[in-house]
Amino acid sequence: MADLLPVADARAAVLAEVTGPLPSESVSLDEAMGRVLAADAVSSEDVPGWDNSAMDGYAVRAADTAGASAETPATLRPAGESRAGAPAQATLGAGEAIGISTGAVMPDGADAVVRVEDTTAAAGEVSIGVEAAPGRDIRRAGEDIRSGDTVLSAGSVLGSAELGVLASIGLTEPECPRRPTVAIVSTGDELLAPSEPMRPGGVRNSNAYTLPALATLAGAEVVTVERCPDDPEATREAAARASEADVAVFCGGVSVGEHDHVKEAFAAAGAEEKFWGVALRPGKPTWFGTHERGLAFGLPGNPVSAMVTFILFVRPALRALQGASPDLDSVEVVLDADVARMERRDQAVRCGLIATARGWLATPTGPQGSHVLTSMLGADALTVIEAGTEPARAGSTVTAELLRVPSGIE
Ligand code: AMP
Ligand code: MG
Repeated sequence: MADLLPVADARAAVLAEVTGPLPSESVSLDEAMGRVLAADAVSSEDVPGWDNSAMDGYAVRAADTAGASAETPATLRPAGESRAGAPAQATLGAGEAIGISTGAVMPDGADAVVRVEDTTAAAGEVSIGVEAAPGRDIRRAGEDIRSGDTVLSAGSVLGSAELGVLASIGLTEPECPRRPTVAIVSTGDELLAPSEPMRPGGVRNSNAYTLPALATLAGAEVVTVERCPDDPEATREAAARASEADVAVFCGGVSVGEHDHVKEAFAAAGAEEKFWGVALRPGKPTWFGTHERGLAFGLPGNPVSAMVTFILFVRPALRALQGASPDLDSVEVVLDADVARMERRDQAVRCGLIATARGWLATPTGPQGSHVLTSMLGADALTVIEAGTEPARAGSTVTAELLRVPSGIE
């Protein structure tokens, strides 16, 4: 581990191996949440499709309401109804009013809507108590989206608003790069499933939960989660199986100890090493390579290190494989306190974020030991404090990787 790579260089080295999004497939809109668009979404329809009413009330000819007021209302003849989904059949004639619901199509001949609160209906007549200007309370066809408009560009992640907009233009089967498959292997003789009884020296396999969760949140399809003892042969077999996936992720067993077999097992599975060792705390013993089908990661086993290195290196790759920006989860934040720099290593500092007028204000969560998994609980983001001699000063802006949507407000 002679040359430790700065975090930015390690991340760039990973992304250099992602030559483009995975092949795309058409996805039912019902299952498209969190997927990424492979191509621009272009509308072939106007939305709304017709001029329609913004209010419940009466469609009128504006000219018929000239001079009307509460004291001197205009009196019009009711001439039918336009309901949402059931447009009026008749054309509005002079001196007539057609009852209309919000969203219902404007009848031919009408050029304004008077809201129901400004009217009084009696037998055979409607009193209009205001003067309506032409166009009043009409939503125009195409006001939201015009036919031919690009509503979403390739690379957009489909969340609630995006799904709604695709539904509103009738795009029911968007093309999306397929989800990257991820195989996760935890190594270590000490590991116990959470359900197993504790034994002396046992360590519960928390990485088997944190890493699949992070992969799923990044849009990947977790195909296997395995546990493997510190045995060369078993590790080789696990590496061969994991290399069937687009992204193979091992955790633990990647250091220089006598019982660390991951690098050698990946090599036996045909992987080519791209880097080993990142100038990062926590997360120094991080290994990255490529195999025939995709990417291979050997992450450190400590629970925080495994999460940190997944977030900094694996997640951007998963985003890029889906055609989304690898920087999707990166934000700029403002430090609320001085943070001492390490001379030779970048630090990933877990922070809570609160929204302020100056932007996101980042406060370290407390003790940053790589085995203190509870320190991740309060973390909204990982800030990356680059190596150096002078402290990173309170008030300075640094890059952070978002872990969730922060809820704190100053
Ligand atoms: P290693 O990277 O294998 O040297 O492991 C470093 C530390 O992380 C050791 O204390 C391990 O017990 C712990 N560790 C390794 N893998 C896991 C895991 N899957 N879940 C929880 N702790 C782990
Ligand atoms: Mg180990």
